[in-house]
Amino acid sequence: MITLENLVKAFGTGNAPVVDDVSLSVPAGAFLVLLGPSGCGKSTLLRMLAGLENPTRGTIRFGDTLVASASQSLPAGQRGVGLVFQSYALWPHMTVAGNVDWPLKVSGLDPAIRRIRVAEALDLVGIADLAGRYPAEISGGQQQRVALARMIAPRPQIMLFDEPLSNLDASLRVEMRHELTRLHAATGATTVYVTHDQVEAMTMASHVAVLNRGRIEQFGRPGDLLTQPATAFVARFVGTPP
Ligand code: ADP
Ligand code: MG
Repeated sequence: MITLENLVKAFGTGNAPVVDDVSLSVPAGAFLVLLGPSGCGKSTLLRMLAGLENPTRGTIRFGDTLVASASQSLPAGQRGVGLVFQSYALWPHMTVAGNVDWPLKVSGLDPAIRRIRVAEALDLVGIADLAGRYPAEISGGQQQRVALARMIAPRPQIMLFDEPLSNLDASLRVEMRHELTRLHAATGATTVYVTHDQVEAMTMASHVAVLNRGRIEQFGRPGDLLTQPATAFVARFVGTPP
């Protein structure tokens, strides 16, 4: 479903690339975790998938569609992707339902269909009863669920997450991990999830790419990374004793 070939991103000419010759391929329905320390290029890679940055070199394909290369880029709105990051960025003056409806309204969908999609999305993340509340009237965990509902309402084929749980306290983080795993199973959407947290990676991923200084150190199943780390960096990072 997602194929990256020799993907490079450098900011400014003459600067070292922050994403450095990344190639990988993940099947439809996968839950890919991009795992690595702060500054290794995870967000930049995800932003290229989302259409918020363009590659310096290399290609991104979704299925058979060439989505981005150095010379062309499919606009973010035409990629069938949904993005959630750690700041939920909800509209404070809109209700929960209004926030979830917003991207559907912008895309020009029929109001009757929008109502069904909003109800379905709220139901899927377990907050149907909060539809009429405003963001200031609900908890942080509930706001996170609104952001998830808003992301899935347009039915993206690909879901992108950039450290979505890093602002939550420990118990909520565990709860939301289960929630995201459930959401992935319910939607069947191919998922790319960025984190520096190896526990998140190991519990949620079908596939993991460990990044170090913009390069893939290892790509594989979570269990393989634990039992057969390819490098000392991977062994250290996924917590296998040397
Ligand atoms: P991560 O998400 O793994 O922490 P990032 O992708 O955010 O890493 O950043 C990787 C590197 O690229 C960092 O050194 C960061 O400072 C740099 N970087 C990210 N965005 C920009 C930008 N717009 N302009 C210049 N440098 C950037
Ligand atoms: Mg980041």
